[in-house]
Amino acid sequence: MTRIAIIGAGLSGRLLALNLSRQASSAVSILMIDRGDPHYMGPAYSDDADYLLLNVPAGRMGAFSDDPQHFLKWAQQRGARADHWDFLPRRLYRNYVIDLLEEVQHERTDGPQFEYVRGEVTDIETRPSGTTIVGKAGESFVVDKVILALGNFPPRHPPVENRTALESKRYVRNPWYPGVLNSLSRTDTVFLIGTGQTTVDLAVALNKRAHEGQIVAVSRHGVLPLAHRGFESYSSFFEEIENSNRILEIFRIVRKHLERAESMGIDKRAVIDSLRPDTQRLWLRLPTDEKRRFLRHIFRHWEIIRSRIPPESQAIIQMMRASGQLELVAGRIREHDPDRFALYMTARGITNEVYYVGQKMTRVIGTNNVDNAARVCHAPSTAALKKTIGVAATTCSYTDIIDSDLIVLFGSNVANAQPVFMKYLYLARKRGA
Ligand SMILES: Cc1cc2nc3c(=O)[nH]c(=O)nc-3n(C[C@H](O)[C@H](O)[C@H](O)COP(=O)(O)OP(=O)(O)OC[C@H]3O[C@@H](n4cnc5c(N)ncnc54)[C@H](O)[C@@H]3O)c2cc1C
Repeated sequence: MTRIAIIGAGLSGRLLALNLSRQASSAVSILMIDRGDPHYMGPAYSDDADYLLLNVPAGRMGAFSDDPQHFLKWAQQRGARADHWDFLPRRLYRNYVIDLLEEVQHERTDGPQFEYVRGEVTDIETRPSGTTIVGKAGESFVVDKVILALGNFPPRHPPVENRTALESKRYVRNPWYPGVLNSLSRTDTVFLIGTGQTTVDLAVALNKRAHEGQIVAVSRHGVLPLAHRGFESYSSFFEEIENSNRILEIFRIVRKHLERAESMGIDKRAVIDSLRPDTQRLWLRLPTDEKRRFLRHIFRHWEIIRSRIPPESQAIIQMMRASGQLELVAGRIREHDPDRFALYMTARGITNEVYYVGQKMTRVIGTNNVDNAARVCHAPSTAALKKTIGVAATTCSYTDIIDSDLIVLFGSNVANAQPVFMKYLYLARKRGA
């Protein structure tokens, strides 16, 4: 008996188990291990929301390479009114794959034995007698072959100098964490690092939750994935790159074809699509150094043209951009710090009690940089400060305003209510705030 362990029950692990279950004999046993329960299929398929769509049309999502329409037919049999070019909910696809796997195991009494174990693998020891997989709870399994289908790891932290920002409650590292948007209030400003598929997912989810706050997404190029749409195809030129092992040379040829397609009035996405059947073969053949070179220099450009979003998601994104709610910025994060913002509260007719509440509230937000115009408006406070601590110090300094990147004003009569402020506002604006 050959014991095969698949670590990770995401889409890759499940498709592998499915194909093994279909093709292997009873001389094989499959052990599948995942942190999640048997109905979990990785972060991409863990959300039940109907608006989180597959980014590939239904007619091309079949689990078997010889039957691309297989998923579409499965969905239609279950009442989905869909055709080839429809983008169906990802939760439906999860059900499809889990269903197929259960079905084949049920039908094939002469097929491999299958076991699902819930747990987290923390170690793998290879010995001549076999390979031992060790779980977090101390469990262990001896197998003959191990397949790692661990999927994408959570994103790295942004490379900022001030690490304290990363401990802030307002910073979320893993955008696929279940309920990641639950702690937001409707008017919060959301800052997204990256402008890929996950940003599209989050923006669409915020839209569906009727979020009203501003959403700013930043990436090196500030460009979102393009939408799927029908276009003229481009003939494959794979034979031109087939024998090259150098990624820069391959990319030079791809670029030549992108330019050629443009001059012929053909969509550049068609050039990438012409390579799709061969990209995996090409990737597997590339030396490791060349793969690294691809990830370092070319991956981002490639992703912008390769990766697509459903037209439904694009329509929502366009609407959010047109209304000014969603803003895309090209740039890099160099530093961010929750303490680099300050609140300055002042208005005519506000009582000390209101300021007191405002002060308390800003502490909850997590900053000490709050000032309610004690210096200019509250002569008694100034006098009291001087008397008690010897100096009429305030937590905010007006000169800090000059260096601000962004100033948000609530209330519009600043020149009237707070004339002193105007000079600094003017200087800040001059510096590009
Ligand atoms: C939000 C999102 C949307 C996406 N949408 C699409 C889409 O529409 N179409 C498309 O083709 N692709 C999409 N993708 C790409 C997606 O990554 C793949 O389609 C696919 O889900 C990847 O499957 P996987 O099995 O490689 O990884 P995953 O789905 O990440 O699965 C890996 C599994 O390994 C488990 N695991 C990891 N480490 C351990 C351990 N030590 N012990 C035990 N278990 C472990 C995890 O719990 C997880 O279940 C999307 C990705 C994301 C994040």
